[in-house]
Amino acid sequence: MRELITEELKRLEVGNLKRSLIVIEGPQGPRVRINGNPKILLCSNDYLGLANHPRLKEAAIRAIEKYGVGAGASRLVSGTMPPHALLEERIAAFKGAQAALLFNSGYHANLGVITAIAGRTADIFSDKLNHASIIDACVLSRANLTRYPNGDIFALESLLKRSKAKNKLIVTDGVFSMDGSIAPIDGLITLLDRYNAFMYLDDAHATGVLGKTGRGTLEHFNIEHPSVIQMGTLGKALGAFGAFVAGSKELIALLVSKSRPFIFTTALPPAICAAATEAIDIIEAEPERRTRLWENIEFFKDGLKAAGLDYTKSATQIIPIITKDPNYTMQASRRLLEKGVFIQGIRPPTVPAGASRLRVTVSSTHTKEDLTEALTKIIEVLGDGR
Ligand SMILES: *Cc1c(COP(=O)(O)O)cnc(C)c1O
Repeated sequence: MRELITEELKRLEVGNLKRSLIVIEGPQGPRVRINGNPKILLCSNDYLGLANHPRLKEAAIRAIEKYGVGAGASRLVSGTMPPHALLEERIAAFKGAQAALLFNSGYHANLGVITAIAGRTADIFSDKLNHASIIDACVLSRANLTRYPNGDIFALESLLKRSKAKNKLIVTDGVFSMDGSIAPIDGLITLLDRYNAFMYLDDAHATGVLGKTGRGTLEHFNIEHPSVIQMGTLGKALGAFGAFVAGSKELIALLVSKSRPFIFTTALPPAICAAATEAIDIIEAEPERRTRLWENIEFFKDGLKAAGLDYTKSATQIIPIITKDPNYTMQASRRLLEKGVFIQGIRPPTVPAGASRLRVTVSSTHTKEDLTEALTKIIEVLGDGR
């Protein structure tokens, strides 16, 4: 066994695919410490600065004092506690849905919903840039899976035309996690009625960010549609942990009885639910966080544009700087870290060959000084290698 592991590790190392962990000392924030040295953090999904917000911390501490730490078991066995129910009500209201159900992570939610609503006889149409957890979910569902080119409504329509399945499910991210582009939901929605299809929308990066009040991709397009099932995460812009699905009462009832990643896992800790509820309150009461985030996005992109750096199709807080070659990308990421800027390099298989990139994410908590300093260092490092 040890030999097999060593061999596989060597193979990863030779292919430059071995990954390792970096310890961040202290909480998430615009600047963090690594080995005692300060770094500007430009790869966290804590987009609104809520992960270390005093109100979230207080809500979690109060809930721990009242309910303890662990939930004890699966929700169906002994685990449903008032903070779970309260958060689900809060999410349903926030998303304008009849009901919501918590999952332990976005990964669980995607596995849990897609496998419950699409079985062997279903046709799933999944955007090629969808998150890895969606791909895993589609495979696990045993449905007939077709991946359509990113955001290509015409390609999708011709696939739908040929489908004979009664159950046709379109699956897309709202914001694509490696490109920062927004799915053309307005166009996709027109296909739902025409082909009697459903849509599963993964709003992991859109929740709290997109739309006038942060409700996500549908709000961004000013669209409501009863055939859209919305998923969102609590661990990104909401600063907590976990995920949810919002939809009809019937959908939620079906998931409670059928969704294996809901049924066969210990419930979220009550304190995490209390913190997430507090996060939704803050998002509703403090729209200025989103205003600052969008100002920072524009400021950072303007800086890249002025330096002639390509950020492709990004329309959001996820801003990939295309560096193409994987070795060059990882080297640039290391050099930036030495210079005090923490940005992850992304390479195949996460992105296609030749499309390696430095994936920047900005937060509402970055100051103009943070971003200016980061831009200067990025231009220093990428200046000669382009
Ligand atoms: C992060 C992410 C997930 C997984 O969410 P977690 O709560 O981190 O497990 C799912 N889908 C997309 C698009 C994501 O970016």
